[in-house]
Amino acid sequence: MIPIDYYISYASELLTKIISIPAESFLEKERADYLFSYLSKQESVFPERYGNNIIVKHIKADKPTLMLCAHIDTVPPANGYSFDPINPPIDEMRILGLGSNDDGASVVSMIAVFCYFVQNNIDLPFNIILALSCEEERSGQGGMKSINKMVEAIADFAIVGEPTCMKAAIAEKGLLVIDGVCSGKSAHCAHWEQGDNALYKAVDAISAIKALPIENLNITQIHAGSSHNVIPDICNFVIDIRTTGELSNEDILTTIQNAAPNCTCSARNMANHASAIAIDHPLVITAKSLNIETYISPTTSDWMRISIPAIKMGPGDSDRSHKADEFVYKNELAEGINTYIKFISHIQL
Ligand SMILES: [Zn+2]
Repeated sequence: MIPIDYYISYASELLTKIISIPAESFLEKERADYLFSYLSKQESVFPERYGNNIIVKHIKADKPTLMLCAHIDTVPPANGYSFDPINPPIDEMRILGLGSNDDGASVVSMIAVFCYFVQNNIDLPFNIILALSCEEERSGQGGMKSINKMVEAIADFAIVGEPTCMKAAIAEKGLLVIDGVCSGKSAHCAHWEQGDNALYKAVDAISAIKALPIENLNITQIHAGSSHNVIPDICNFVIDIRTTGELSNEDILTTIQNAAPNCTCSARNMANHASAIAIDHPLVITAKSLNIETYISPTTSDWMRISIPAIKMGPGDSDRSHKADEFVYKNELAEGINTYIKFISHIQL
């Protein structure tokens, strides 16, 4: 039996290595190459490559299948780094660098956990596959969107690895951004009666939209007018909705459009929908039985691109993502790997 500590120490080395290979969304090739060759060298591990996504299957019998997934890409470095985000200094307690927390910690922990179960030949009531995706941060067509049908044909449920302090997100809010446009007719203010003020139409539309019983809806931007003495012929405004899944994005857009018939409403992206898992699903029951805190996450992830039941759980802290001087504590990695192993060992179907 190869001990968990062995996997923890190599996860930490692997994380340090991949941080040094830049992998902004759409530019992940070199990091994917490295991970693919790294995995190929591991005993009993047979990675498959789909663009810059990597899938490793361990299908032994006709059983349900658990997918572990995490993303290998990063955002560009935020302003204000006090060190080189790609070649960070060594720190005793932490692993520093761009993507260390989001989502490198989950990537290396899931690799470690996958290898632990496969190489120790541990018999579980389900198979496991590992999916390392690209382009997550930019919702690219070549990321999870390009492999979701394939993985869903194999996997029945999933753990999405993202920095959650190893709490289990049992739902995540979606994001719907809607542009509203009101049109009128311009005129000189001295002859205002010849015009049709688009701003007044927008004010009416905004009041009607604000009164709708849609949760987490905020109107955040408005623009009209070119000069104090011109009746504006166009007024644009922006609505930001952190969706809960209670209404579909299509229903929300229709409701808003119906409430504001004098403006044209269009969604920037209908695909960032909310996700949730049934509270009696074995993944949720496992979390409860191990006293792992459950919560609703305010951020989206690859979860919104898959339709199988899932929870989101991983080492690191979402608060550190996309910020300067990103890091993950070494003991968070160790705790993440230990918790994943305990969690997976406890799932009862
Ligand atoms: Zn992430």
